[in-house]
Amino acid sequence: MGMVVGECLDDWSFDVFALAEAGTCQPVKYLGYDLLNRYGTIHKFKIPPATLETFLSRIEEGYCRFRNPYHNNLHAADVAQTVHHILCQTGMMHWLTDLEIFATLLAALIHDYEHTGTTNNFHVMSGSDTAMLYNDRAVLENHHISAAFRVLKEDDCNVLQNLSKEEFRELRSLIIDMVLATDMSFHFQQLKNMRNLLTLAEPQVDKSKALSLVLHCCDISHPAKRWDIHHKWTMLLLEEFFRQGDLEQELGLPFSPLCDRNNTLVAESQIGFIEFIVEPSMAVCADIGETTATTADKPPTKPKDVKNGAKPDRFEIKKPWITCLAENKKIWKEQAQRDAEARAAAAAEAAAIEAAAAAQEQQQSTDDGSAPEATTSEVKD
Ligand SMILES: [Zn+2]
Repeated sequence: MGMVVGECLDDWSFDVFALAEAGTCQPVKYLGYDLLNRYGTIHKFKIPPATLETFLSRIEEGYCRFRNPYHNNLHAADVAQTVHHILCQTGMMHWLTDLEIFATLLAALIHDYEHTGTTNNFHVMSGSDTAMLYNDRAVLENHHISAAFRVLKEDDCNVLQNLSKEEFRELRSLIIDMVLATDMSFHFQQLKNMRNLLTLAEPQVDKSKALSLVLHCCDISHPAKRWDIHHKWTMLLLEEFFRQGDLEQELGLPFSPLCDRNNTLVAESQIGFIEFIVEPSMAVCADIGETTATTADKPPTKPKDVKNGAKPDRFEIKKPWITCLAENKKIWKEQAQRDAEARAAAAAEAAAIEAAAAAQEQQQSTDDGSAPEATTSEVKD
């Protein structure tokens, strides 16, 4: 366990699949424990180790309840590890309090708890109990938070038992903000607001908003990982979408985007997702990292030091995702090209078969001595 997790847990392209294959069947439990331990959270908030283990096991079970191909315990562990990478590699961790770090790691671990393997839109369209409970608003996200806090209320799972009332209120509020913000319907507004804020000469970045954006970016970051990892996640997510499409068909609902197994352009959709969603998200995420690191690592800039609005020396972070994004986009573009050629070839072949059949039919009717027109029903009508 120490070998697999210990040495590469800080890496951008940490392979959570390898962790699962190495025999660690409880990635949420092992990774969750290791991360909370690394930041000293267990010690600082006096979390009884047995309680933490019970809590993490319960969370893990909830992730496995619906046997989802994508939204399962591996995804939770992956997002938690990615959040950890951003916190420790950008210097953001020096900008945050212990409680904020605790809230962020906990939010990442529970952010898709008891995910049903279907989308918010599916819940709304099918009128599920959860959609009824949350009035069609951020249906799944509300459930993830609510159900996880119910687990935390149980004595043997209460890892927050030694927090003060004030600490509990603050942590709970941060987790609610962060997990609700993972709803994709807030994506564009969230990104726009943060981008506008970061263009100011001396941006005052709100902790909750910054952390929400970081969690959201990490949640959709698999296209920014190494190709083999990204490709696996893509296939798993598509299978989950296709299963929803099968359900939609059974229920007589229209297909949601990417859910029709027979009519989905995988490569094209991935290119669009990378260009319009993931690349801009990672850019803003990096910008937050650099801005907060700049303010955290140096003494606060006095107004007189800033002449003509010049920014203080900017902290530059490593951005390993840039090459991954470019590489993945290149591979998908090549595949899109091959797919288009295959579709054109198939269409040409179908047209050729049809033409040959028509020619044969015409030949036969000529041989019979009857007029070719007479053999088609349209003429008779
Ligand atoms: Zn997620």
